[in-house]
Amino acid sequence: MRASQLFFPTLREVPSEAEMVSHQLLLRGGFIRRVGAGIYDYLPLGYRVIKKIEQIVREEMDAQGAQELLMPMIIPAELYQETGRWQEDVLFRLKDRADREYALGFTHEEVITDIVRRDVRSYRELPLNLYQIQTKGRDEPRPRGGVVRGREFIMLDAYSFDRTFDEMDLAYEKMRVAFSRIIARCGLDAILVEAESGAIGGKENEEFMILAESGEDTVLRCADCGYAANVERCEIGHRNGEKPRLHEEHLRMVDTPGQRTIEEVTQFLGRKPEELVKTLIYTAGGEIIAALVRGNRDLNESKLARLIGAKRVEMADAETIERITGAEVGFTGPIGLNNVRIVADREIASMTNFVVGANKTDAHYLNANLDRDFKVDLWGDIRIASSGDPCPRCPGTLDSLRAIEIAHIFKLGTLYSEAMGAKFLDSDGCEKPFVMGCYGIGVSRMLAAIPEVYHDSDGMIWPISVAPFEVAILLLNPEDDQQCDAAARIYEELQMKGVDVLLDDRDERPGVKFKDADLIGIPIQVVCGKLASEGRVEVRLRSQKDKQAVALDTASSQVMFLREALFRELQEKADRFYIGRVLKV
Ligand SMILES: [Zn+2]
Repeated sequence: MRASQLFFPTLREVPSEAEMVSHQLLLRGGFIRRVGAGIYDYLPLGYRVIKKIEQIVREEMDAQGAQELLMPMIIPAELYQETGRWQEDVLFRLKDRADREYALGFTHEEVITDIVRRDVRSYRELPLNLYQIQTKGRDEPRPRGGVVRGREFIMLDAYSFDRTFDEMDLAYEKMRVAFSRIIARCGLDAILVEAESGAIGGKENEEFMILAESGEDTVLRCADCGYAANVERCEIGHRNGEKPRLHEEHLRMVDTPGQRTIEEVTQFLGRKPEELVKTLIYTAGGEIIAALVRGNRDLNESKLARLIGAKRVEMADAETIERITGAEVGFTGPIGLNNVRIVADREIASMTNFVVGANKTDAHYLNANLDRDFKVDLWGDIRIASSGDPCPRCPGTLDSLRAIEIAHIFKLGTLYSEAMGAKFLDSDGCEKPFVMGCYGIGVSRMLAAIPEVYHDSDGMIWPISVAPFEVAILLLNPEDDQQCDAAARIYEELQMKGVDVLLDDRDERPGVKFKDADLIGIPIQVVCGKLASEGRVEVRLRSQKDKQAVALDTASSQVMFLREALFRELQEKADRFYIGRVLKV
């Protein structure tokens, strides 16, 4: 491809809409353009990257025996209604001219299960793994980071169907390997973490996380044993430490007029947040729950729901709180709170003489103590984990890291097949529900995650496997015959060898060509400049500063050598993953 014919509208200024580095660079390099909130064009350079990622995805999925198909984007409401997911907030809903309802597919469990229940009858047709690479729509409340969290995005979604849970485990393992290899071949290092299943459901699931300071996800990891989990999921270890034997002071009610928040109350009383216990009122299917966590902690609603055996919990409204406590919101406490189940975070067990709301407007208690002043009905781990918390698997502690979620894999079991009556005839003559797994990689998110990791002050540095071009030839002076001849010869030689090469033949100053080549991050650069008069050109890697002058005669073989080394490095990274041995930190 000749740069004079390539459409890549670069920008000199950093666009004000972009916070993340990858977003700025993709806009500046002319890879993407914003159409609406969370909706983007992929311009030729960006789309070249997308197609290369997709190709890697196809190769690795096919290698594990998965088969590609394509399902519709527009899904009839009835399908999502069968599993109760029609209510999901992220659904983009639409109506046709006859007022029939549809949604844009946000994930295709129902559609694929419908295919399989219609057309797969016997255990002989299993196992089956079907995947697609498709544009999805999700009505994200907070689109962010350009294509990191878009409302329209390209995703690989795969679905496995098996006879038994053991066979599902194997299908899951295969996808774990395929995904690890895909991510490695794209040049990224992922860590695998336990996660919440969210709108997909199912019990066991893991996310592939790319560590990045600007990531919107938080991962907690134990350096000692390798336990890693998304912050929403992360368990906290329980230490049976000695309860400090502090003298229990007298319970005392104090006036705290208008002091509702932790910050206000602690400042007003001259206490630290960790000397206070927060009492949060929740409802869970009609039941009222008072949940206690230390003042400097946040409650984890998923943990609370799991602990009390509810599907979900919701914060009680002001009216309920006033009815239950007899006080305005902001003065809730556990003392004298009758007919309400009190659930407490285990950390509170070691506290003495703490501050709680008095269930009286404008008042708090000082020196509250467990057992003496109130009883806890249920103890458990209900807070959000943070850096320094004990590891749940070993005596180590957890570190908090920022990350971008790039893929998510789930063991669904029979969640969808039972809800939709999708059954097969097993060898024993019994009808059984399919045992399923589902697996997704954010292809367009990868377009952002890669430069988020690989960039410097000059621009992006693409791994060769996904670079928009593998090699850029910079013809510094198109008026100079020797430079032109050198560039044309290398261009032709590389093209003959199947190299994806860009020839910058534009009528621009050399400085512009250097800047653009660095900005768009082509991994190998060949400079045809003044040295051409001596029969030499310069070769450099985008990732390194130094360049090497080589004879024109050997330039293309030198480039081939570098290219193969770069590919080999990625391949070796991927080859660490095979069935039986997968990524664990
Ligand atoms: Zn550990």
